[in-house]
Amino acid sequence: MMDRLYEGKAKIVYLTGEPEVLLVHFKDDATAFDGAKRGTIGGKGYCNAHISAHAFCYLERAGVPTHFRELRPPTDMLCTRVRILPVEVVMRNIAAGSISKRLGIEEGTDLPFPVLEHFYKNDDLHDPLINTDHIRALGLASEEQMDAVNAMARKINGLLRGFFAQCGLLLVDFKLEFGVTSDGRILLADEISPDTCRLWDAETRAKLDKDRFRRDMGGVEEAYQEVLRRVEKAAG
Ligand code: UDP
Repeated sequence: MMDRLYEGKAKIVYLTGEPEVLLVHFKDDATAFDGAKRGTIGGKGYCNAHISAHAFCYLERAGVPTHFRELRPPTDMLCTRVRILPVEVVMRNIAAGSISKRLGIEEGTDLPFPVLEHFYKNDDLHDPLINTDHIRALGLASEEQMDAVNAMARKINGLLRGFFAQCGLLLVDFKLEFGVTSDGRILLADEISPDTCRLWDAETRAKLDKDRFRRDMGGVEEAYQEVLRRVEKAAG
């Protein structure tokens, strides 16, 4: 049995024999509303591991450095070990979720340009929205690191919009996490999946993401399967 390094809401991270390599296990567990809503989504771990692997490979081929090394089916992937920066980066193309509530923008409204937000990754504080000064004042990351992170996030948005467009999906918004390697490089980390991206069918605008779970819409498992099916079809 491998040593468990960390267990989060949706993933378990294990040490491997190699110090620079971790094994990430994707769980079927789902939480929402700051952990207030809990459940399981059958087959989610499988779908998210596979969708993430496809997205990371696509980004790597386009020159984005990621922590992804290799898929270990059915539900695991090998990743480069990083120290996760405690800043979640959200990119938004269409208003939904918290920006709609916070700023009174009706869900589904196209934003005039991709809007980048930062949240402090801190469960005790409930992941508050923060700005660049907050990040520096709290010492969460250096100015240089944040410049690199923000530039990567904007590039990733352009690439992922294209990636999902090939699947007939609109990339409404998504959350990214970045990490620092032992030699100081910044890599895209975490996952890219219907847990962390809002994805709408490009024709019908039907939701194919975790909002189906958050909002008790039904068809949750089917939505994750459908995203995987389309990603695999686009990959050929
Ligand atoms: N998101 C996430 N983890 C979080 C918070 C948000 O993956 O802890 C994703 C979410 O799925 C959506 C985007 O980030 O794709 C923006 O989320 P938002 O701020 O609208 O918050 P939510 O409505 O999810 O509470």
